[in-house]
Amino acid sequence: MTRETNLQVLLRNRPEGAPQPGDFSVVETVRPEPAEGEVLIRHLFLSLDPYMRGRMSAAKSYSAPVELGEVMEGKCVGEVIASRHPDFTVGDKVLNGFGWQRFSSIRGEKLIKLEEDGALPLSAYLGVLGMPGLTAWVGLEDIGKPKAGETVVVSAASGAVGQVVGQIAKQRGCKVIGIAGGPEKCRFVTEQLGFDACLDHRGDLPAQLDAACPEGIDVYWENVGGAVQAAVFPRLRDFGRMVMCGMIAQYNEAPGADASAAPSGPNLGPVVRKRLHIQGFIVSDSGWSRYENFRSEVQAWMKAGKLNWREDVVTGLENAPTAFIGLLQGKNFGKLVIKI
Ligand code: NDP
Repeated sequence: MTRETNLQVLLRNRPEGAPQPGDFSVVETVRPEPAEGEVLIRHLFLSLDPYMRGRMSAAKSYSAPVELGEVMEGKCVGEVIASRHPDFTVGDKVLNGFGWQRFSSIRGEKLIKLEEDGALPLSAYLGVLGMPGLTAWVGLEDIGKPKAGETVVVSAASGAVGQVVGQIAKQRGCKVIGIAGGPEKCRFVTEQLGFDACLDHRGDLPAQLDAACPEGIDVYWENVGGAVQAAVFPRLRDFGRMVMCGMIAQYNEAPGADASAAPSGPNLGPVVRKRLHIQGFIVSDSGWSRYENFRSEVQAWMKAGKLNWREDVVTGLENAPTAFIGLLQGKNFGKLVIKI
């Protein structure tokens, strides 16, 4: 029997500005064979996430870039098809960073074994029960600290992180206002996720914020940056918290471009006057050591029907570059995953 070939998506060019399809190449290679201690995995789902734009750049960051000609980095859920590690057998489902490819052979110690649960799809381990969900949980626990009765505003509210942030804040008894792009996403955020309101950032966002939160904002979950941040920031209340999770609207800008936007720099005066707490974080700093606490709480809400989620599933690894480019333009609706 001839061995199946591997399909891989490689980084071909480092983009300047928005990534283009030609910045990637899709190649067929020989499928790997597991060495002693390794497990051969057939990838089932690949997660596409905004941080991957950073990995395409050589600019200094918290993590090393993908080198030109290397397989693009990404987390996957896969199935073990051959094992030379005592802890894994054929058919086990596993999670970790196997990259944009169809097969990989990985040392067993690097894998997380997933308990199959017919009630939840495996792809959920890349979204609501995976890195984006954990990000939401950790950022709220450590920085946002929402208290019952407070007003929480969440940008990119229909997306992978935002949808979980808002629903956890609702569980904590807060008033939750989402911000999203377009009426369809806003409807989903209120009707399916149970936020109190959702504002369309394509409209007059400052006026909508004044109408939805006349009392001001206690916690702002920042996923977007740019004009959305400019509208929310002046509306933070005394002792407000700003959870700096990401600023996707600025990922295609050259490094340092934002610093020169205003000659005097961004106006951070209110941070002192209002005693604001603004803190950035990266989920991988300490998040994974708390994964089990997160999972047991969120999974219980999911099973009790108290936490909803939406995935945007694109079929075919060869479509990953186009889907990723769309993610940076807001074309995804829910957690973006590739079904391989
Ligand atoms: P999403 O699923 O929310 O998808 C991205 C969304 O961002 C789009 O759907 C779109 O929503 C919005 N968007 C995209 N481009 C723009 C733009 N130019 N201007 C305004 N909005 C835009 O992604 P994630 O939930 O995976 O990620 C959300 C944020 O969280 C990102 O900034 C990401 O980098 C960050 N993140 C940070 C982590 C950390 O450890 N700090 C970990 C994981 C994610 P809409 O159409 O509604 O505008």
